[in-house]
Amino acid sequence: MVHFIAPKPLAQVLENQSVKYEKQTPSLINGERVIGTGSSWDVIYPATEEVLGSCSSASVEQVDHAVSSAKAAFDQGIWRTTTLAHRQGIFYKISELFQKYAHELAVLQALETGIPYKQFKGMHAVRASENFRFFSDVATSLSGKTFQQTGRYLSLTLQQPIGVGLVISPWNAPLILAGMKIAACLISGNSCIVKPSEYTPLSQLRMVEIIIEAGVPAQVIHLLNGTGAVTGAALTLHTDIDAINFVGGTETGKRIMKSAADGLKKISLELGGKSANIIIDDCDIDAAIDGSLLGIFAGNGEQCLAGSRILIQSSIYDEVVEKMVERTKNLRIGDPFEDVEIGPLAFKTHHNRVLDFTTKAVNDGDEILCGGGVPDAADSGYFFEPVMACAKSNSTRICQEEIFGPFAALVKFETLEEAIEMANDSDFGLVSYVWTQDIDNMMKFAQQVRAGTVWVNTAMSRDLRAPFGGYKLSGLGRDGLEESIHLFTEEKTVMIPAQKLAFPKLGLG
Ligand code: NAD
Repeated sequence: MVHFIAPKPLAQVLENQSVKYEKQTPSLINGERVIGTGSSWDVIYPATEEVLGSCSSASVEQVDHAVSSAKAAFDQGIWRTTTLAHRQGIFYKISELFQKYAHELAVLQALETGIPYKQFKGMHAVRASENFRFFSDVATSLSGKTFQQTGRYLSLTLQQPIGVGLVISPWNAPLILAGMKIAACLISGNSCIVKPSEYTPLSQLRMVEIIIEAGVPAQVIHLLNGTGAVTGAALTLHTDIDAINFVGGTETGKRIMKSAADGLKKISLELGGKSANIIIDDCDIDAAIDGSLLGIFAGNGEQCLAGSRILIQSSIYDEVVEKMVERTKNLRIGDPFEDVEIGPLAFKTHHNRVLDFTTKAVNDGDEILCGGGVPDAADSGYFFEPVMACAKSNSTRICQEEIFGPFAALVKFETLEEAIEMANDSDFGLVSYVWTQDIDNMMKFAQQVRAGTVWVNTAMSRDLRAPFGGYKLSGLGRDGLEESIHLFTEEKTVMIPAQKLAFPKLGLG
């Protein structure tokens, strides 16, 4: 029996939360609110399917206007030539303002994504604030390299801003994903163009306004709302964009790589996942179950790093599955502004796509142990009952395709070798989880699994200093401290003779 809390109508949510926003979401060019002249669409509150407002695509001309302004600001040096201390002061202010406006930012994100408000308020708003503090702090500790060539030369490296950075983000975690990249781009002295997902234009607009309020010049950061096909494509092809950080789906990532190739732009791609979560029989079972449920259900399961393939050793399989199914049936789902654990999925086509996986699972011979449909009590909204499904094998579609929803595929294994083989039998390789008390098992798994991050006895943790990114179709490049700064900087080598050089004298006859 699902615990369903029916959502309140949008008008009541807005009144209860005391948050206002413009019904026609603009872009922000030079700090001015500009309505996109391209085609428009409705932005929907996924809990009730009511219209939050409308948004329209920034056209090719509007893209050009924003990028030209960003480039002019860079060339004139209005931000690039400021001292690091100046930029740090502004970053501290941004961090403070994110805390001050945490409620408003969390409400906007919950409205546009359907992910529970308390997850945004308690985690994402905090992380968004920390991202700016983090990048301003680490920027002071970054240093170049020096090389001494047997006394003849001193060579040293300078890291210089690249120019205009482009940050394209998906809809599932608008603030933390975009915020970290914007921070890395700006602290290095670049201009920045922000392109949110068309499903979530509200919270990032507010974020960029706050960044400008804190003191980043309005010519340096611009936000362009629009579809990927119009605004996104125009940006990735623009000759004055120098580096692109893209977070989103694998197919879009491939397209962006092709667009970037013509201009030889630097790119970093953080893409999809189908992460394996391995539960070995020597683990702390309670901790493994808690962590695995968090891994698949946090953020409505709409997370690139969701542990969506849960591989369980045969000797504990029945016990673990029984407990996980019981807990899954017990999840509180419904109104994202109430005390729920799962809200509605983000939008209609996504909802239909996730529902389709129930049919695919049945057709492939997988067994749905719980969930998979729309809760009986939900008469509107994109609600979905969280799934635990026993997969026929690791090859079925629920094990191989990214579902991006609260849908766990369970697979039994006998030996760790078999589990590692299954974990690696995937087109993706973003993160992996392992639950074990045995150091040999931990080390073997950590070394042999082909994924960018390995979580040992933990889930969903991140150290911003550590590299983050994917193997295989999960991405290209890494995010993190030095890696993020590298994307938005050029490294220059300067060679200086240590003594007067005797050059061969050419042209003297
Ligand atoms: P998406 O690829 O559809 O869209 C992402 C962004 O790209 C949006 O802003 C969209 O407008 C833009 N876009 C689309 N086509 C474009 C084009 N041709 N040129 C330029 N921009 C274009 O992804 P989504 O549905 O918004 O997000 C879900 C995906 O994101 C999932 O696959 C998920 O795994 C992935 N994701 C990855 C990470 C990570 O860190 N690896 C984090 C979060 C989400």
